[in-house]
Amino acid sequence: MKTLLITGGCGFIGSNFVRHILADSAFDGTLINLDLLTYAGNPENLKDYDRDSRYKFVQGSIGDGDLIKDLLIGNQVDGIVNFAAESHVDRSIDSPRAFVETNVQGTLELLHQARLFWKDLGDSNVFRFLHVSTDEVYGTLNAEDPSFTEDTPFAPNSPYAASKASSDHFVRSYFHTYGFPVLTTNCSNNYGPFQFPEKLIPLMILNALNNKALPIYGDGLQRRDWLYVEDHCRAINLVLKKGQVGETYNVGGDCEKANIEIVDTICSLLDELRPREDGKSYSDQKTFVEDRPGHDRRYSVNFSKINRELGWSPSETLRTGLRRTVEWYLKNDSWIKDIQENRYQQQRLGVG
Ligand code: NAD
Repeated sequence: MKTLLITGGCGFIGSNFVRHILADSAFDGTLINLDLLTYAGNPENLKDYDRDSRYKFVQGSIGDGDLIKDLLIGNQVDGIVNFAAESHVDRSIDSPRAFVETNVQGTLELLHQARLFWKDLGDSNVFRFLHVSTDEVYGTLNAEDPSFTEDTPFAPNSPYAASKASSDHFVRSYFHTYGFPVLTTNCSNNYGPFQFPEKLIPLMILNALNNKALPIYGDGLQRRDWLYVEDHCRAINLVLKKGQVGETYNVGGDCEKANIEIVDTICSLLDELRPREDGKSYSDQKTFVEDRPGHDRRYSVNFSKINRELGWSPSETLRTGLRRTVEWYLKNDSWIKDIQENRYQQQRLGVG
């Protein structure tokens, strides 16, 4: 594929994906990043690629049909990877409408324009549309339930998950109705560099360093499957190139942990890498707060399909990935300062 359109490439996973593609010197095509730059989109995430002739940034929305049409035709795009979304569960509880506008209506407009463009391409075209989604569409598991497979029925429990599930259904319907070449990935919780500090891991790191409370929802025993973001980017690239169109692929970290264990690991890494001046542990800052309404208890992802068919598996363990993440946040003061002083002033801190 020579020309890729990435949407939401200034967010957490999107910017890591742009880096993943451009870091490969064998990639000699063009990567167009379309991002609306909401509160979660930060062009600083990619500023070292400003002068890379393979990279183009366009500010705009996936819901803007005329813009999408011009981008597709003007650049003769071969593939789309759709990361653009409202992505924070707490915000979806406060303001669900924005999640429908972007995640459902925006994705539908992107699909619509992409299909019209694809229809006019010749038979030999290699066009593909990859939709990046979440394991949250499957709902919650009890302790003894088997992990989510691609056949687990959707049962979304938050407005965020409901909006992603709806977009996944539209993507699927475009394959079955029009034969449009779509692929979907449903991935577990990601962590790593450039994650906006409203989500659990960066929030805990930054609150710890700023001598603030580490707020833990409910009993802290909600279990999530954690995946280092670079592993997710590798999976997306593989599915884009080699996945079977019309299929969905679960992506997981083989790393199910309770939130409280994540916070404890972060505290112990910080105790080692940047000890508190008073000699106490960061874990003294842990505070239990009222649980999120409708909080899913457990997610667990069975990724044997992508492993079997495409040979993918995660390469980072939680311990190595979290160490890399904590070290990145400790090194990138100016990125954090910019977020805290400029981008984040009116935003409420939640726990993702
Ligand atoms: P993010 O919130 O960090 O980034 C979202 C990006 O989309 C931002 O740059 C934002 O400016 C942009 N955006 C929002 N609305 C837009 C619009 N209308 N048009 C164009 N751009 C728009 O999100 P993330 O954590 O990087 O997640 C990316 C995708 O991956 C989402 O679709 C999310 O559902 C999915 N996902 C995330 C995780 C996770 O753990 N973060 C796990 C699985 C799947």
